[in-house]
Amino acid sequence: MSGFLVKEGAARVARDPLERAMPERILIVEDEPTLVATLRYNLQRQGYLVSVASDGLQALQRAREERPDLIILDLMLPELDGIEVCRILRQEMAVPIIMLTARDEEIDKVVGLEVGADDYMTKPFSMRELLARVKANLRRVRLTREEAAAGESEPRPAPPLAFGEVVIDQARREVRKRGVPIPLTPKEFDLLVFLVRNRGMVLSRDLILERVWGWDYAGETRTVDIHIHGLRAKLEDDPANPRHIVTVRGAGYRLEP
Ligand code: CA
Repeated sequence: MSGFLVKEGAARVARDPLERAMPERILIVEDEPTLVATLRYNLQRQGYLVSVASDGLQALQRAREERPDLIILDLMLPELDGIEVCRILRQEMAVPIIMLTARDEEIDKVVGLEVGADDYMTKPFSMRELLARVKANLRRVRLTREEAAAGESEPRPAPPLAFGEVVIDQARREVRKRGVPIPLTPKEFDLLVFLVRNRGMVLSRDLILERVWGWDYAGETRTVDIHIHGLRAKLEDDPANPRHIVTVRGAGYRLEP
């Protein structure tokens, strides 16, 4: 049975002219042929170069050889499941990973600390929404790369962002606490930079979603909570009683320097 529906037919999402300079490469990891065919067709129509892996081991091999710009990774796969694939790739490369899950309960685990996917979609999903997420994730990576490149040519680089004993090097996308490097997922890093740049201000979950995830999607604020949880676990001395990344009840989050 195919758990997949394309509600609005073949979706079309406008692309930036700048994006056309070099086609971005997307690896689809999925074992359901109908879904693979639909994804491939729609992504190619948007101008992306697409390759496909149909099981977990093949996914690792393709990702290592091809170094894609983005991976769409199904959770239920033969050989090695999507959670294991994501966990392994996370340690090897900073590629954005959009996870496809069949059930809502899996989301915490998938987006959370344990696995570290950047984004997820629950089946059945809308192709239009998936294309928007692909685009948003690729744009975020491209902007960061451009910022880093611009930073390198500056004679005097901006001072690193910091709070408490945490220092953020934006050009290198590195975070250190008391001098010790702290590995963050790409989304955790972007969220942290956004919080620190707006330190002292109450930031609503919707605003955070819009600015960090870049999509207008009011129903998905749990994603923000899960990433906040991840940042606290990695950066706070006592994650259960955070001193820096604090919750403002009924309003959102605030970074206390
Ligand atoms: Ca599957």
